[in-house]
Amino acid sequence: MKLYSTKNKNLIVDLKEAVLKSLAPDKGLYMPTDLPKLDDRFIENLSSFSFQEIAFQVCSALFKDTIAPNDLMEIITNSMTFPAPVVNIHDHISTLELFHGPSLAFKDFGARFMSQLMSYFNRNEKDLTILVATSGDTGGAVAAGFLKTPGIEVVILYPSGKVSDIQEKQLTALGNNITACEIDGNFDDCQRMVKEAFLDKELNQQYNLSSANSINIARLIPQSFYYFEALKQVKSKHVVVVVPSGNFGNLTAGLMAKQMGLPIKKFIAATNRNHVVPDYLDSGNYTPMESIQTIANAMDVGSPSNFTRMQEIYPDVDSMRNDILGMWFDDDQIRAKIKEVYKRHNYILDPHGAIGYLASEKYLKGNPNDHLIFLETAHPCKFIDEVEKAIETNVPVPSSIKDLMQKEKQAHALTSKYEDFKSWMLQKN
Ligand SMILES: *Cc1c(COP(=O)(O)O)cnc(C)c1O
Repeated sequence: MKLYSTKNKNLIVDLKEAVLKSLAPDKGLYMPTDLPKLDDRFIENLSSFSFQEIAFQVCSALFKDTIAPNDLMEIITNSMTFPAPVVNIHDHISTLELFHGPSLAFKDFGARFMSQLMSYFNRNEKDLTILVATSGDTGGAVAAGFLKTPGIEVVILYPSGKVSDIQEKQLTALGNNITACEIDGNFDDCQRMVKEAFLDKELNQQYNLSSANSINIARLIPQSFYYFEALKQVKSKHVVVVVPSGNFGNLTAGLMAKQMGLPIKKFIAATNRNHVVPDYLDSGNYTPMESIQTIANAMDVGSPSNFTRMQEIYPDVDSMRNDILGMWFDDDQIRAKIKEVYKRHNYILDPHGAIGYLASEKYLKGNPNDHLIFLETAHPCKFIDEVEKAIETNVPVPSSIKDLMQKEKQAHALTSKYEDFKSWMLQKN
């Protein structure tokens, strides 16, 4: 498998380099040079394959002979450890539940797969130390994804008192190869300290430092698997997939699946009030903005990083419009829909999924014969305050989270001075 930089088609690397470096030297994002069409018989017979077998087929086509089949099967078995069920809400609207992983959000798929690929490609080198600054959510997915991964340790910096109780436990209670530093400062301090560490000669001598960047291609690839898994579970031949989007990684993964031959009729790029991409689809002008705060806050992105990857697949707005519709909704619409869907259909949406539902309903009005699948990107208990206010009853909390809350927090308290972090790093092993 070869990948090129979105800033320069002639800058070509292999998968190992793309996975271990995340970003191209010219700061472009890596894209596969080829998205091969899968065998028609495979696409027509998806229902005879398990989720892991689907992942293996898609991955083998993409990777070609980069990774031996046995090793690839092991990577997939170790990373695809939770299901992606389609749940029918009513008639023509279903949801693909992507929250059955350890941090209860779809990012678990990407984090877990990336950890396995990094471990595989780094197997003959000095152990990797992944440094992560987090404001809460990504850190949890990375911690769970890298837990017990051979040859990799993770050091997470998070701002003291600025993450939720569940998030803090996800960062601090796993132990093993995951270490948390509780910084007396804010998220920007954490990020500054990590940046400084990457430039620090002394630290780089002692450690083989790396990052778990959200734009790493290894996070996108497994996200394409569950689109196949989704279509396997519905009968309709006219499937439209709604993707609640922020940085548009999830949508890009879906577009890749379509390029590989998955028959998705259309995608809907659904956002909150950060509607730069729906605006682009509307007007043809792409105008990134400062982000606006909403209750679907994992999608509060004003300048989506994966837009440049979408443009690699659709170089102009007309070609993009053929396959993608844009829609956006505000907080009041989200709250009202969470309430209504619970009352009418007894299904608890989270704020991001509610945007997916809103878009599904709106599209269905004009296209009553299509079947909508919207991605439910997080478990509603992750946004418990908003959701409980809307449905006026308790949101059930999964037992895995109850177990986690019983575990003990372990974190190294540090000031926001870089030198403090550095001396702790130098003496910790
Ligand atoms: C990250 C995230 C999103 C946005 O996904 P993108 O791939 O960045 O578009 C949506 N919902 C939830 C719950 C998320 O955590």
